[in-house]
Parts: sequence; C-alpha cells; structure tokens
Amino acid sequence: MPELPEVETVRRTLSRLVVGKTIREVEVRLKRIIQKPEEPELFADLLEGQTIQGVSRRGKFLRFLLDDGVLVSHLRMEGRYGLYEGSDEVEPHTHVIFRFTDGTELRYRDVRQFGTMHLFAGEEDLSSKPLHKLGIEPLDESFTFDAFRQAIGKRSTKIKPLLLNQAYIVGLGNIYVDEALFLAGIHPEREAASLTRLELQKLHEAIVHTLKSSVEAGGSSIKSYVNGQGESGNFQHSLNIYGRNGKPCVTCGSLIEKTVVGGRGTHFCLKCQPLKRKRSTPKNKL
Ligand SMILES: [Zn+2]
Repeated sequence: MPELPEVETVRRTLSRLVVGKTIREVEVRLKRIIQKPEEPELFADLLEGQTIQGVSRRGKFLRFLLDDGVLVSHLRMEGRYGLYEGSDEVEPHTHVIFRFTDGTELRYRDVRQFGTMHLFAGEEDLSSKPLHKLGIEPLDESFTFDAFRQAIGKRSTKIKPLLLNQAYIVGLGNIYVDEALFLAGIHPEREAASLTRLELQKLHEAIVHTLKSSVEAGGSSIKSYVNGQGESGNFQHSLNIYGRNGKPCVTCGSLIEKTVVGGRGTHFCLKCQPLKRKRSTPKNKL
C-alpha cells in the first residue's frame, strides 16, 4: 500500500501534470470505485467542464481541487494514476478515465479495485466522511512538538499502535513508524505516557526526518510502487530497520528482531530500543 510519502510524491507529480487542464468527459468503467455520488453518470456530469485548480492531500487521500468542489481519491492497495494521450491504448484494469479538452487523459488503474473516489461540492469534504476524523498532518507546519505531545503524549497505549492510529496523526504507516521509533531509540511496545519529554522530542524529530527524507527520495518502494510518471521511489535503500529482521543493527550490530505489535509486523533492535519499565514515581513532568 502506498504510504504518506508515496502519496505526497504522487500529489506533486499530478500537480505538474494535470493542474490547469479542463475535463471534457469522464468515463467510469467500474462503478464501485465511485463512492459519492452513488450514480456514476452524475459523477461524470458534475465533473465535465471543470478545470483542475490544484492537487492537495489530506493524510493518504488525494484532493483534486476543482472550480466547484473537490474530488477525493484514495489509492488504497494498488491504485495509480497515469497521464496518457487519448490515442494511447487503454491498459487492463483502467477503471476511470478523465478526458481533457487538450486531448490528454488522466487514467486511474487499480488491479485490486479497492480504491475510492468521492466528489464533494465546495470544501465540505474536510468535514465529511472519509476525511472528517483524521488527525494532524505530520508534514504540515502545524505538526509542532506541542501538537504532537498533546495528540499522543499522555495516553496509556503502546506507542506503535498509537502512531498508526489515523485519528491522532495521519498517514504514518507501518514502515515509517518502525523507522522513526528506531531513530528515536524507543521500543515499539513502550506505553506512550511513560515517554519522557526528551524521548517525545526525539520521536517528533524522527517522524519528521523519516517522512521528509522519504518524500525527497520519492517514497519507498517495497512492492514495486510506481508513481504517476512511472518512476520508482528510492527510499527502500535508506531503511534502517524495516524488513531487516535477522540482520545486524546499523548502529550496534545486534541482530534485529521482529515481533507483532497491535497486529502489525514490527522490527526493532532491543539494544538500541530497550523496553524500559513504566516509570512509577513521579509519573513524569509533562
Ligand atoms: Zn542496535
């Protein structure tokens, strides 16, 4: 599944490719991708004649900003966009085609068919399903240390599932959480409330660093992920801990372990990320 840095890479690529183009016609070839409105014909009608003014992102959702309204698109497992000439052969698993007035087409392909599109009037998408309950954006300026500490600092939950919970911080997937916890030297099963202010600071910095480096590298590419222009991301070459179970830790040389935390495969170095006991007194000075 593409994670936040991959979706950000797709967003940047799409911004270059489709902003300013006007939709002449929309062809929905697989009805289930279109979640709102329910009728694909209405979906197409509402989009025709509209110009794409921008492409933004909320968590792992892409937001195509239109003259009137927002098209919200989630790639889920395998969804991907590509810009084609109208004369190019339509590849298998192409489910939605946006034909532009300049003769080019934005095509949405999705082998697994799990992707979704919701079309909203105005900017009501941010306060409606599926975006309304998303937490803070870790790549946004609003992701300050104080905002981070408020979101997670005092909860009596293991830190890893908390970081994966989209209601607190959006778009942090399994790979990036393992990497950030390793960088911060925090065991994935530590209780959030047991983290000291210094540990939280290190974790906050590690999250921002991990995501930013990945966006710069074009996203990771664990499963031959390809972005909107057909390039693969390079971040998989920079992974320190994810997928390296049984191999030596880059910092201390101990063997990296793999376990399951909150139902997710989890990689860590027990020497660099000790499982400290929860501190009893004083609780902590936050
Ligand atoms: Zn280590």
